Amino acid sequence: MKHILLFGPPGAGKGTQAQLLVDKYKFIHLSTGDMLRDEIKRATDTGLKAKAIIDNGQLVPDEIVAEMVRSRIKNMKNDKVGIIFDGFPRTIAQARKLDEIMNAENQQISLMIAIDVHDDEIIKRIIERGKISQRSDDQDVITIKNRIDTYNNQTSVLADYYRQQGKFKSVAGIGAIEDIFAEICKIIDDSRKS
Ligand code: AMP
Repeated sequence: MKHILLFGPPGAGKGTQAQLLVDKYKFIHLSTGDMLRDEIKRATDTGLKAKAIIDNGQLVPDEIVAEMVRSRIKNMKNDKVGIIFDGFPRTIAQARKLDEIMNAENQQISLMIAIDVHDDEIIKRIIERGKISQRSDDQDVITIKNRIDTYNNQTSVLADYYRQQGKFKSVAGIGAIEDIFAEICKIIDDSRKS
């Protein structure tokens, strides 16, 4: 079974591409950002802890996020379907946790697909998205810059983690959504042949 990590800075288009991949390949979409926003909406303990951190553009502690992912994967009924991970892992510690979680299920990550977009473009995109999404962390430039710094300082190193395992691929994230999608599909289809 192919389990794929969609990777890239905030605003790269991971959520959009994940949705298209779900429609085409029937993957299960696992977005830790969506899960955390749901916890906040339901005012759970996790949600209450996460809100201020998210609004600051920082990362929710590894243990909290990894536990959410572990329980979601454990409760998946259909283990024949691939998972598309969107926004997880975001630190080396999370990547190691994910290996543990997947090993316990006799599964593994097949591929990381990174969507490359330059910082200036990202800021413009997130501000535009914020007008529609109403996401609190999409509203001001300081939070958005913090998120980009967090990505550059803590998350971008994950590319090497998966590159060393021969699992890393990337696409340019600039241009039409359909064209980027076609490139991602090609990577997935090629990997299925091997
Ligand atoms: P996203 O929707 O993926 O952009 O995530 C929105 C925010 O949720 C991030 O800026 C983080 O504060 C938090 N978050 C989402 N996924 C993670 C993760 N894997 N680890 C830590 N924090 C996360």
